[in-house]
Amino acid sequence: MPEGDTVYLAAKRLDAALGRRTVTTSDFRLPALATAQVNGRRVNEVSSYGKHLLFRFDDSRTLHTHFRMDGTWHLYRSGERWRGGPKHEVRIVLTAGEAVAVGYRLHDVALVPSDREHELIGHLGPDILSDDWDLLPVLDRLAERPNASIAAALTDQRIVAGIGNIYRCESMFLSGINPWLAVHEVPEADLRNVLQNAHRLMMGNRERASQSTTGDERRAHFVYGRAGQACLHCGRRILARNVESNIRDIGAANEQRVTWCPACQPAPTTSQL
Ligand SMILES: [Zn+2]
Repeated sequence: MPEGDTVYLAAKRLDAALGRRTVTTSDFRLPALATAQVNGRRVNEVSSYGKHLLFRFDDSRTLHTHFRMDGTWHLYRSGERWRGGPKHEVRIVLTAGEAVAVGYRLHDVALVPSDREHELIGHLGPDILSDDWDLLPVLDRLAERPNASIAAALTDQRIVAGIGNIYRCESMFLSGINPWLAVHEVPEADLRNVLQNAHRLMMGNRERASQSTTGDERRAHFVYGRAGQACLHCGRRILARNVESNIRDIGAANEQRVTWCPACQPAPTTSQL
């Protein structure tokens, strides 16, 4: 599932291709938006908030899309062959001059007055990839959910927007935090530390396609995707467990598989392992 840094980069590339340009043709291949069009509208900007992507047009409308598990935007030159999947998976095509943006498998597509954007993204916590990100409001939001596991809380987009499973697992590892502690059991210094690690890792990757957290592309992650393998720090076997959640912003079950090192991220009592 795309994490916030993937959405940030997609917005940046779409903004470079379509931003400050006029849409020459638009094609919405969704029943709810079958008659919608933005032809002749200038794209003021394309931006992201957490995992949400927003096109803002000069007629005070905003197009909202979400990738969820498998969505993606592809950019092509006019006349170039599309390669993002079968035609029936195309949801939106926006052409501006030579640039063609094709949205595949998009979810939560909505075209709304820009002053109603809050109805789509107002529930989200601070965007971890924002230039003015501040962790204090995130600590406040964590305090409102004291009994959630820290693993569940870090990808709860209402607490902090943008973190997905990769950066959740990696930042908990780097902070030495056991994923199954309840939020109220984690000292505030550790909460700050894990958020700072997630922020640092994601800011480091937001301008590029890599999601490596180790600095080594051959061993891109410390614990994410490494269940059953040896910890790079201590050699213990990496464990995995699904985090239970009904939060719809998180994604499908296989993306909720949390991995951790039982030695580097010890639980206070063995019963929590
Ligand atoms: Zn370890």
